Amino acid sequence: MGEMEEDRDNVGKLFEDFVQSSTCKGALQAFSVLCRRLDLDPTDNEIFYSSLKAKLTSWKAQALWSKLDKRMLHKEYKKGQVCVGTKCLIIGGGPCGLRTAIELALMGAKVVVIEKRDSFARNNVLHLWPYTIHDLRGLGAKKFYGKFCAGAIDHISIQKLQLVLLKVALIVAVEFHINVEFVKLLEPPEDQENEGIGWRAAIRPADHPVANFEFDVVVGADGRINTLEGFKRKEFRGKLAIAITANFINRNTTAEARVEEISGVAFIFNQKFFLDLKEETGIDLENIVYYRDNTHYFVMTAKKQSLLDKGVVIHDYIDTQMLLSSENVNQEALLCYAREAADFGTNYQLPTLDFAMNHCGQPDVAMFDFTNMYASENAALVRERFGHQLLVALVGDSLLEPFWPMGTGCARGFLAAFDTAWMVKSWAQGRTALEVLAERESIYRLLPQTTTENIGKNFEQYTIDPGTRYPNLNSACVRPHQVRHLYISTELS
Ligand code: FAD
Repeated sequence: MGEMEEDRDNVGKLFEDFVQSSTCKGALQAFSVLCRRLDLDPTDNEIFYSSLKAKLTSWKAQALWSKLDKRMLHKEYKKGQVCVGTKCLIIGGGPCGLRTAIELALMGAKVVVIEKRDSFARNNVLHLWPYTIHDLRGLGAKKFYGKFCAGAIDHISIQKLQLVLLKVALIVAVEFHINVEFVKLLEPPEDQENEGIGWRAAIRPADHPVANFEFDVVVGADGRINTLEGFKRKEFRGKLAIAITANFINRNTTAEARVEEISGVAFIFNQKFFLDLKEETGIDLENIVYYRDNTHYFVMTAKKQSLLDKGVVIHDYIDTQMLLSSENVNQEALLCYAREAADFGTNYQLPTLDFAMNHCGQPDVAMFDFTNMYASENAALVRERFGHQLLVALVGDSLLEPFWPMGTGCARGFLAAFDTAWMVKSWAQGRTALEVLAERESIYRLLPQTTTENIGKNFEQYTIDPGTRYPNLNSACVRPHQVRHLYISTELS
């Protein structure tokens, strides 16, 4: 073998290591080794993708480039130039933070994502709408995860989804930092000495290099507990709803593969099932979903009385926080409850029901209250201090909490990611802050109503342009004068 050929093989192997890496840290490590070997600087976002592409020419790599190249041809990105010079900080490396990061990077922005954890460990499974599957395929999801949505499967574990998105994000030169927690925004300093310094973030650990990153866009993607200030939250108070999620080990046997999945939407209407379940086991549910993925994943909504009857919840408190506090929950009884419901729900066909472990090494069963769901009143605002403007946006669960049993989190989360990218584009193109915010609010009004039925059917045409996705879009229904309160200038106060 010639030296050059050997060299190509080695590089191909490093690329393969990256593609196949199965953990967050593993992917970051393999990526860094690959970049060093190719002598590429991943922080050089304007040329990184094209340089990587030029140096990796194996057929496998090329198959991925052709996917990504196709995406990059979207006219909205203006050949990756439309946001050159825009600097964005994204808080949170969940699916929606990462999806937003990719779009901003495709427009040429410099994007830094900070994630407070150091692993992707969530077994829970997200339902994907057809458009999200199409979108992820377009980003090359199948190249990273061969089993991605094979056949009629329309779900993916949160950790696998994060991993696929992280790999794409790295390739398009997104900077991703683990073990970095956002604390608060830091205003541009007033003193003469520091004149010219823009918006930054206070982070933990405080001495991490990201502390010096100055940005003009910040996106809150840190999940249901949004840490960015200034956003009022609307509460949707429903009747008491207690969700239980449970993950069991999937040994991928033929017997397991034969067991029928339970899609939530269809099952709500099957009253006999719930009556039989109650009669046979004393378990009373409003719905149940079962997906076979990395694990056997179940999510169910349990009625309070049956939790009391089965000894899962010890005392009956009106206050839901007290009701579900760890002192008031019998963990063993909860595991039995979840296992029994899973066994009945799958008609006793799963050969074993051994709990998968969560990131703390405990059986992966959790009980949540989702009686109150929150949505942010607004999707974005602008802060100004000493002439430095900062566009502040929310995406994902921070913006609009999903209804878990229906798994709307990822579908609506990605729509919001695209809408946010569209807003950043307008911002970078120099439209006024009030125009940008008014358009964003107009589009945000549609989000809570979106369903698989009422969004655009031609997924091939989907871009960050909301007109390609929302059929009845009126992007001027909120007028600039109605969003003045979203322009927060410290000088004026
Ligand atoms: P998330 O996925 O919540 O990601 C937010 C990320 O931000 C996390 O990685 C978090 O570590 C990070 N973060 C938080 N605060 C900071 C900070 N200050 N600084 C830096 N990083 C920060 N949906 C379902 O449909 N079914 C389910 O069964 C289900 N189970 C879930 C279980 C858990 C434990 C959680 C947290 C969410 C679950 N969801 C479920 C919701 C679903 O995960 C989200 O809708 C989906 O992942 C998209 O969310 P996101 O990216 O907006 O936020």
